[in-house]
Amino acid sequence: MTNLAKIDCWIFDLDNTLYPASVNLFSQINVKMSDYIMTLLDVDKLTADKMRAAYWEKYGTSLAGLMQNHQIDPEDFLNVVHDIDFSVLSKDLNLSNSLNKLPGRKLVYTNGTAPYAREVLKYRGLTDVFDEIYGIEDAAYVPKPFPEAFEIVFSKANIIHRKSAMFEDEVRNLEVPFKLGLKTILVSDVQSNKKYVNYSVKCLSDFLRQITSNSFN
Ligand SMILES: [Mg+2]
Repeated sequence: MTNLAKIDCWIFDLDNTLYPASVNLFSQINVKMSDYIMTLLDVDKLTADKMRAAYWEKYGTSLAGLMQNHQIDPEDFLNVVHDIDFSVLSKDLNLSNSLNKLPGRKLVYTNGTAPYAREVLKYRGLTDVFDEIYGIEDAAYVPKPFPEAFEIVFSKANIIHRKSAMFEDEVRNLEVPFKLGLKTILVSDVQSNKKYVNYSVKCLSDFLRQITSNSFN
């Protein structure tokens, strides 16, 4: 069992980590991204959907693929695709309670933008829970899972690797943090047996409560 007693800095991904994947915020964002690609490149929806998915796979985010191949303005793109209906999110008292009980620094690090993260947190009732929020704009638009992205953000945030833990729903985003010495927690219905995943958990609130009740010390 990995010891979490020395951890005093907790870093959380945003999408599908601080709200359930079943909310499917990305179904709205994906539509906006495909629309953007259709207009930008004058292609049909099927082609745009395929490009969006292929860029996400190869470049970490669809945005990174569009920047490298079509020189788009990232700010314009992010403003458009994050203009969605946030009311599908609901407040989560359980999660805010368990986060508030967690001792130490709490950060959000997302491949979305910090303003987008603040909007999501507002609808989740988690606005006052986190000390700092880092978005893709803080990493010069280099996305997780690339090492450069983590290096930039962890350095800006003065992260002490061996005293920090990272929560993520995308397993590929945990490999670099693990190599840097962070503890890694996958938050997903799909369990992982990757060596770089210290914990694979289905419910973030339950896991946080286990931590604060000292089950892992
Ligand atoms: Mg995520």
